[in-house]
Amino acid sequence: MNNVVTCVYCGHEYPEGTPTSQATLLTEHIKTCEKHPMKQLRSALVGVIGVDGREGLEQLEITARTIPAVERDRIAVLNAVHALLDTLPEDKS
Ligand SMILES: [Zn+2]
Repeated sequence: MNNVVTCVYCGHEYPEGTPTSQATLLTEHIKTCEKHPMKQLRSALVGVIGVDGREGLEQLEITARTIPAVERDRIAVLNAVHALLDTLPEDKS
């Protein structure tokens, strides 16, 4: 039991001797870990802008760029959209 990789956020364990490198395993797990801070931050952000998924986010980006808005608000929306696009759980493109 000295080589088990454990997620520090949810306690998910990977068995010893997994062929894939442990760093890769954790990186992959973090994308789906419900307790990871990034996931929770993401959920909060989705709650704020009310959109998720590549299509919805890209649509919102176009809207934010085209409608008249206070520049500060526009930038805030675009930043949120980009943060969510960068952390999409699965990218099927
Ligand atoms: Zn986890």
